[in-house]
Amino acid sequence: MYEIAIVGGGPAGASAAIFTAKAGVRTLLVDNGRSVTRRAWIKNHYGLPEITGPELVDRGKQQAAALGADVVTADVRDIRRDGEGFVLETDAGTFTARRVILATGPSTDLAERIGVHLVPGREPRIRMVAAVDPDGRTNIEGIWACGTVAGVSVHTIVTSGDGARVAINVLSEMNGARYVDHDVLPRDAAT
Ligand SMILES: Cc1cc2nc3c(=O)[nH]c(=O)nc-3n(C[C@H](O)[C@H](O)[C@H](O)COP(=O)(O)OP(=O)(O)OC[C@H]3O[C@@H](n4cnc5c(N)ncnc54)[C@H](O)[C@@H]3O)c2cc1C
Repeated sequence: MYEIAIVGGGPAGASAAIFTAKAGVRTLLVDNGRSVTRRAWIKNHYGLPEITGPELVDRGKQQAAALGADVVTADVRDIRRDGEGFVLETDAGTFTARRVILATGPSTDLAERIGVHLVPGREPRIRMVAAVDPDGRTNIEGIWACGTVAGVSVHTIVTSGDGARVAINVLSEMNGARYVDHDVLPRDAAT
């Protein structure tokens, strides 16, 4: 059983997986490869003067995998509670996880199917989004949401930031204390 399963491997989901995998938490990142970001040519992402959408999405998944996440290409058809956690039904088999983070982009199909409450979106062309509390929790205990599907601004720096923010909130709940992930430069390298 995974500790955390993240559905959606765009900027939000992959960013969340980078934090949870780097924290040593057994992480599944499952994505069906239809990210809207693949159509983007990004020139406004802090620290990245210019990058194509496909490059950003592929890099995010590679970074999560390099940190220990299992990255699976599959379509999640259903999520149902099972004892301590959840069973994820996909077109590539079933997976189990204690917690789930939804990062499905503009698509609320899965969220609606599993009973996550939806509210009207406020971003252009985003009709409905998952109702979340300030930390990213949905109405279903153990299921969180981040990025576009959670109603944030439709920009990669914001959705990837929200993925990280919600992952940190999940890790903090697991640890019972606020989680911080800092790596420090050796003194002589700091300028
Ligand atoms: C044409 C275009 C140009 C853009 N240009 C810019 C720009 O210049 N700068 C900028 O900052 N932003 C730009 N954006 C916006 C940016 O791509 C999005 O705002 C944002 O980053 C989306 O991130 P996300 O992770 O929330 O969603 P997505 O990137 O859409 O990722 C969600 C992922 O979840 C997957 N998924 C959904 N449901 C399931 C399921 N049931 N099972 C498995 N996987 C599932 C999807 O296939 C997708 O891969 C642009 C968008 C478009 C469409």
